This record gives sequence, C-alpha cells and structure tokens, in this order.
Amino acid sequence: GHRHRSACVAVSDASVAEDTATPLLELRSVGRVYDDGARTAALTSVDLVIHEGDYVAIVGPSGSGKSTLLNILGLLDRPSTGTYRIRGQDVQTASERDRNRLRSRTFGFVFQASHVVGALTAASNAGLGLEISGLPRRERVARVTRALTMLGIASRANFVAKNLSGGERQRVAVARAIATNPAVILADEPTGALDSENSATVIDYLGELNSRGVTVIVITHDPTVAARAHRQVDIRDGVLNDVIPTGVSALTGESTATSSTALPTSNANRASPPAQRRYPGRFLRTLALEMFTAVSAHTTAPARSLVLIFAFLLGTGGLVSALGISQSAAAQVSDRLTAAALDEVVIDDTLGSGVDAIASIPVIEARIKAIDRVIGVGWSARVAPGDSPISLLPPGSFLSQPRFDGPRMVATAGYLDVIGAQVEPAGVVSLFTDAEQEIFAIVGDRAAELLGVAAPGPGVRLWLNGHPVEVVGFASGSERDPLLADSVILSKAAVDVISGWQPTFTVRTEPGFPAAVAEALPSAISPANPGQVHTSTVADLRSLRRGVAADLGTLIAIVSLILLALSTLSAGTTMFVSVRSRAPEIALRRALGASRASVWRLFSLEGLVIGLAGGVAGSAFGLLAVVAVCQLQQWTPVLSPAYLGVGIVAGVVSGLISAVYPALVAAFSNPADAVRG
Ligand code: ADP
Repeated sequence: GHRHRSACVAVSDASVAEDTATPLLELRSVGRVYDDGARTAALTSVDLVIHEGDYVAIVGPSGSGKSTLLNILGLLDRPSTGTYRIRGQDVQTASERDRNRLRSRTFGFVFQASHVVGALTAASNAGLGLEISGLPRRERVARVTRALTMLGIASRANFVAKNLSGGERQRVAVARAIATNPAVILADEPTGALDSENSATVIDYLGELNSRGVTVIVITHDPTVAARAHRQVDIRDGVLNDVIPTGVSALTGESTATSSTALPTSNANRASPPAQRRYPGRFLRTLALEMFTAVSAHTTAPARSLVLIFAFLLGTGGLVSALGISQSAAAQVSDRLTAAALDEVVIDDTLGSGVDAIASIPVIEARIKAIDRVIGVGWSARVAPGDSPISLLPPGSFLSQPRFDGPRMVATAGYLDVIGAQVEPAGVVSLFTDAEQEIFAIVGDRAAELLGVAAPGPGVRLWLNGHPVEVVGFASGSERDPLLADSVILSKAAVDVISGWQPTFTVRTEPGFPAAVAEALPSAISPANPGQVHTSTVADLRSLRRGVAADLGTLIAIVSLILLALSTLSAGTTMFVSVRSRAPEIALRRALGASRASVWRLFSLEGLVIGLAGGVAGSAFGLLAVVAVCQLQQWTPVLSPAYLGVGIVAGVVSGLISAVYPALVAAFSNPADAVRG
C-alpha cells in the first residue's frame, strides 16, 4: 500500500490517500472509559492513522492516556467505543484467539527494563515471543542469536537476566521485540530507566529498525527521544493532537510526506512476519516449553517447592498407607478365617462342666454326626492356667519351678482332625481318645521352645497339677486354630485332675453348609431344649473383624484426606502469591501472543508438577509405612501397584485443584494493567 500512498501524496491530496490506501493501523473515534467505581475517560474520540514505516512518538503529561492508547494499538486492551482496524481488518469483532495471533505476528513490545523475566537467561528472554509462536528450536536459536548480536549483547546470552545491568536488560527487551520480526514496535518509555548513554543506544537502534522499514511507535517523556520520531502525537486528557516536527505543514495532517521520505526500503528488507506461517507440531512444542517453564519456575524457589512437595507427600503417603494397612489387616484376618468360614460350626456353652458333662459327650457327638452334611466333629476345652498348673519338674523339687503360662487345652483326636492340626509323629493322635486312661500331651511348636523340650518321646514329661504327663508329639499351628502352636494339648484323661473346663464342639461340614448345619444342630443335640445350644459360624466373626480392620483404614484415610486438603490449600495460596508477583511476566507472555489458555496451562502445569512430585514421593513413603506397620504387627503386607496409582493420582489431582484458582486469576488478568507495572 505504501507505493500507492506515496503516489497520492505526490498529488498532495491527503483525503484521497486516506480513501485509497489501506493504513497499517487505523483508529476511528476511539474512546476508552475505565469504570472501576469512578468513571475515567482515558481516551476521547481519538482518530489516528499510522502507515507502514511510520515512526511516531506519543507524548503528553503523565495520566494523559498514552499507555491506554498504546495498549489499544497493541491489542492488549479494547476500546469502549469507536473502531480499530489493522490492515483494514476490524479487530473489534475478532475472536480472542485471532487477536492473540495477530498481536504476536504484528507487534513487538518494548517496556521498561523491569519487564524482562529475571529468572530466565538473556537468550530465553529474547526467545520468549518465538517460543510462544511455536517456532522450532533451531530457528529460534538462530534468530535469538542474530537479535542479541545486533544489539551487541551476544556475549551476555547465557546470563540470568537479573544479573544484567539496566541497559543490558533493556537491550534484551528490544532483542525480544525484534526477534519475532514484527511489523510494528510498540515501546512504552523504553528509556525511562536508563542513563543517557544507554538511552542513546536504544534510541539509535529504534531509528535503525525504522530505517529498515519497521513501524515504530514510542511513548516518551523525553523530548530528545521524541525528536527522533518523524511525527509526534500529543495527548492531553485523552484528546489527541498531531504535532508535526521538522519542515512539515501542520495542514497536511498526517505527516505522510515525512514518513514516506524516511522510508527508503520499506518492506523490501524484511522477511515476511514469522507467525503468518503455521509451524507443524506447534501445540506439542508449546506444551513441552510450558512444561519446562513450569518445572523451572519451581527450581527458582527450591525451598518453597520442597515444602509444598512435602505437604503433598504427607497427604498422599497417608492415603496409600491407609489403603495398604487396611488391606493387609483385612487379608490377615481373612487368611485365618477363610478356610473355616466355609465349613465350620462351633458349639459353646452347651453343657455344664465336670463329670456329668463327660458322660453326655459321646451321645452329643453321635447326634451331631447324624446330621446331614456333617463330615466330622471333635471336642476340645480351653483351660485356664490357674485351673491347671503345668511345670517342668515334679512337685517338691528343690529347684525353683519354671512354670508354663501359655494356653492349654484338652482335645480329642476328633478335634485335631477337624481343625487339620499337623502333629509329629502323626500316629500319636490315636492316644487322644475318650477311652484312654493315661494323660498324654502334644506340645505346640512355640510352646515347646518356651518349655525347652527338644523332642517328644518316652521319658519326656511335664507335670500337670502334680501329675506326670508324657509328651508324645509336637503340633504346628493350624489356620483354623492359630493358638495351637502356643498351646499344650492334653488328652481327655486330663479332665480328671483339673477343674473349670467346658467342652466346645467343632463341627466340620461339607463346604458351603455351615449355616444349614448350624440351624439343624440345636434340636438335634437337645430336642427338649434347643434354646440351650449356642452355635456360631465363623462367617459372622469374619465380617466383624473385617469391619474393625476397615475402621482403622478409614480413620487413617480421613486424616490423610484432611492433610491432602490442607496441602492443596497451602499450595494454592503459595501459587496465588506467586501469580501476583509474576504479573509482569504473565502480561509479557500475553503481549507476546500467548493465549489465556496457554497462561492457564502454565500455572496448572506448575500445580501438576508439584502434585506429581508429592504423589510419587508420597506413594513410596506410604508403601514403606505399610511394610513397617506390617512388620510390627507380624502381618504379611498386602502391596499392590494400584496403591502407587492411587497416590500419584491423588497427588496430581490435588496439585491441579490447588492451581485452579491461581491459574484462572493469571489467565484472566488484564495484560494492559500488568504492563503498567
Ligand atoms: P499515561 O500513560 O499517559 O500516564 P494512562 O493511559 O496510564 O496515562 O492513564 C490515563 C488515565 O486513565 C489516568 O487518569 C489513569 O489514572 C486512568 N487509568 C489508566 N488505567 C486505568 C485502569 N486500569 N483503571 C482505571 N483507571 C485507569
């Protein structure tokens, strides 16, 4: 459009030029009212036309509306009234996405030096705009190097920006603005924080850019900076007046002659704007860079991040251990009881104790055996230690008497068979009949250790209440009677020398029939008085104990969920504070074309990263806790890879939740506000 416009200027007809050439930027009757309680009219009915290759200075006192105008020009803000066209395209109605793209391909922003991200290197800062437009890495590096070289700071490429001088930082900012090869440079007080020498460098460079065809628009207080422009626009109280400097008649309005003579080469030297191309794989590359940025954001404040990770670790670790401990506890209980639950019925409290009872035992056993589905029955009687002192030496021994304090019972071969006791040597079980007159003992493995009995056999004896008892065998534990290994098991004749015993009948049924048998038992045993007979099946007991184990797990889980909620809250608060302090960086990203979604992702990813780290650490910690607790309880730990999944998912989800609000605040922060600093 420029050549065409020049031709029109040649016939000195500005109105024709306006009608026929398409200006680069065109504001018509633009107003901007800030409405935060008090209504401030920052701009009133502004008409401004800027052509390709112009060099415009916007001057005016503080508060007159300069930044507002620049923000509207740069698509960081929207006018309240009027129209804005870029290359003839109305951008009022453009979607947010199109505005982001248009912004990154059209404008390069230079703000005051504080708008360089201190934590990033000079090169990363200079490449930020290219990163956001998704340029492949190799091309990005090449352009950044070129831009830094042009500004004479290539040697500082790998310096962290906060360690650079003010002048160097501002050159980095200019390098960042030009790296994307924009059509327009928008500079807001670019020399505001610089000494005169550095100011001169920056201003020289802006002039050089303009001579290569880049349109430059600069806000400045500094008359020497303004004087370098080809056209000055003066704003007072939101109202705009063009001031044309050297040799141009004020009547020609838009100083077109000046700007066109200053444009020897126009667009010829400039490559096509980069963002007009679509880079393949842009989204993934952007995502990877966002991920990288999110991770490096955490490494800039490692102590803070570690505390947050630790908070998530406690929460997720607690959850994982709750799961593991309750599962292990439940497994423990059910291992013992599963076998019994299927096919076992126990009858307690059926008879009075003593001699009367013993007479009826064979009768009762016969009646039980007669019931359908009953495979076997045996009786046993737990005996209280006080009723049946057991010692290793005969009474009256001069040596002090070590006594056995462990559990003891009277049992028959029938019982040992029903519960599947493992007895060595197996043959001795036949001594445990109701008819046998002598007292024999089978000693559980652990009880034998306690007693110091090395092996059963003739001559190995214990003393029960002063009576000799021959130890004929060892028994190892049984799933159905875990106490067996700790017990001394006495044959039936023992009931003659002890008191206080009560037979318990243990009935083995065909698998699946304990309930049916339990129902039939009372009337079979005691037809006259079935209510006297108390039966129980293990199934009732098992569900009860499972419940107890589950309660323990629930308690730990509740505490962990509270911890997790607290860590989410504290992570959210911390991130919110960090969003606040990073407002300039966020604005910068938006100014460089990053979408709201991209800013949102950036902070969500930060939450995700911290939650993931906490979740992984927490899962490991939780599994260790499960192993430790099981070790203490002598349980077999139940560990499953699914617990790791639970811990990691819990961490990731709570990390994401913690980021929801800060990320939204960041995404919806107004870039124009933040740019103001
Ligand atoms: P300048 O850049 O010339 O200093 P600004 O464009 O920043 O001027 O401000 C113009 C007017 O609008 C001032 O009165 C200022 O207080 C007001 N203003 C600027 N930004 C906002 C905002 N976000 N909310 C309310 N008022 C604002």
